[in-house]
Amino acid sequence: MGEVRRQIADACARAGRSADTVTLVAVSKTNPAEAVIQGIAAGLTDFGENRPEEAVEKIAQVSAGLGATQGGGGLPRWHMIGHVQSRKARLLVGRFALVHSIDSLRLADKLARLCQEQEARQDVLLEMNVSGEESKSGFAATGWANSRTVRESLWSDIRSILTLSGVVVRGLMTMAPIVEDMEQARPVFADLFCLREALQTEFPLADWYELSMGMTDDFQVAIAEGATLVRIGRAIFGPRQTG
Ligand SMILES: *Cc1c(COP(=O)(O)O)cnc(C)c1O
Repeated sequence: MGEVRRQIADACARAGRSADTVTLVAVSKTNPAEAVIQGIAAGLTDFGENRPEEAVEKIAQVSAGLGATQGGGGLPRWHMIGHVQSRKARLLVGRFALVHSIDSLRLADKLARLCQEQEARQDVLLEMNVSGEESKSGFAATGWANSRTVRESLWSDIRSILTLSGVVVRGLMTMAPIVEDMEQARPVFADLFCLREALQTEFPLADWYELSMGMTDDFQVAIAEGATLVRIGRAIFGPRQTG
């Protein structure tokens, strides 16, 4: 974990950024609650999960575990980073500091209605599929800079989401393709950065600050391209058994 922190600090230094402009989200999916509790003891504050059911169970276990040892102090911030079906949106409300993976108007709408019912607010990121891989979720954003059709459809969804009360947009998230060399992921991250600039111009009243991009194999490049949140699993917790 110290090694990951050092690599983040180095990447920030090379990019002329201060290290506190990048938040490390430790991706604890497939790892047990004990691993999270150990991570908190080692100084981690933010954890990412990609499956709602697994997350709900783990959050309860971690809260109970910490409550027993420290009177409930030091609770971490949880991040939902995986695809969420609309019918599972209710599992999110009140549990996550940030939902990175809003990938459809339908999900945003469902979450907003649940938030209104419960008088809650949910900070979210809009997940963009800029790489064009069909296996990836996210709003269709491939070629947005050159295609007016892509932009019109994307702007229209975003305009609708920004009118919803209950969900608060904080920025964008993307996943780069799995590549041999992390340099190959750079254009995807650079594209997300440009897309954010375009959205700042188009929707200046919204908050586009956060850019969630970069994982174990490519976070240094993501930081060079402006990531504010990196989602790192294997480099912290070791290889995954499943998932
Ligand atoms: C699993 C996962 C990560 C972390 O991946 P690593 O390669 O283990 O760092 C990041 N983002 C998302 C959306 C994930 O599902």
